[in-house]
Amino acid sequence: MEAHDGQTAERRIFGPVPSRRLGRSLGVDPVPLKTCTYDCVYCQLGRTINLTTQREPYAPTADIIEQLDSWLKRRGTADYITLSGSGEPTLHSELGEIIGWIKSRTNTPVAVLTNGSLLWREDVRRDLEAADLLIPSLDAASPATFSRVNRPCAGLSVEQVIEGLRATRSDFGGAVWLEVMLVAGMNDSPEELRALRTAIDSIEPDRVQINTVVRPPADAAARPLSPESLERAKPMLGPWAEIVAPLPADYRGDQTAQVTAEDVVTMLQRRPCTTQDICGGLSIHPNEAAKYIAALLAQSRIATEHRDGETYYRAVKA
Ligand code: SF4
Repeated sequence: MEAHDGQTAERRIFGPVPSRRLGRSLGVDPVPLKTCTYDCVYCQLGRTINLTTQREPYAPTADIIEQLDSWLKRRGTADYITLSGSGEPTLHSELGEIIGWIKSRTNTPVAVLTNGSLLWREDVRRDLEAADLLIPSLDAASPATFSRVNRPCAGLSVEQVIEGLRATRSDFGGAVWLEVMLVAGMNDSPEELRALRTAIDSIEPDRVQINTVVRPPADAAARPLSPESLERAKPMLGPWAEIVAPLPADYRGDQTAQVTAEDVVTMLQRRPCTTQDICGGLSIHPNEAAKYIAALLAQSRIATEHRDGETYYRAVKA
């Protein structure tokens, strides 16, 4: 994969990967790991390295479009093309160009997974307007809980975030599914759930999807709610709230399956694999794979091999 300056371009699209909500979803990753407006306690990508609200072209848009073009030319198919990835996609200042390009080349619907923190900005809402589905999140409705759970960049307030979600609902022509990530002991008190409900009622999303911590979080203190606690929280978040259901257990892409470093080692004991092989085999995001690979390399449990311009990893015999 050549970048325009002759360098090897970083892979910016991944999958399609099975997704609980979106079927087969081709991921597009427009910001580098981990560039975000938040540093959520539950983040599965680890701590935020670049905590910012500054919109910039964080990745070369031409590379993203080239990779999408080559995927389409290989007759790639997916249920959704989803902007998500290694941080907050709306930080990429050329997001509108990417979405516009996709909409001009394919009928595959475009989804954007966003933390919703920048939706109060008109330029962000304009960039998103051609998308088909927005999945923003809202985990808190009070300033203290917002700070505790989302650890936002200085200058962001929860009032501003809720206002941005309201404005999006009134401007945006597609569907809005609001995701609420509940963390035990942090944002699941009756008081916080009532405040969230008031905010949700004012936003009027098409769906409210309740989630909890299922992947290893950035902060070990972030614990999941039990199924019973989720069931108790559900009616408090509105009559249309749903718990995001896992896929059937026999579905390999079940995102609630806990992948561990040992799964990666087991896979590499069978044969050397690239990062992409690991992602495909275990149905995990490249950044999650990168986290396991870095830890296993540091422990000398796996080693690197370079072959035909590709990097492979293999298990080291004990
Ligand atoms: S969970 Fe999403 S919004 Fe929160 S820090 Fe991670 S990438 Fe950012």
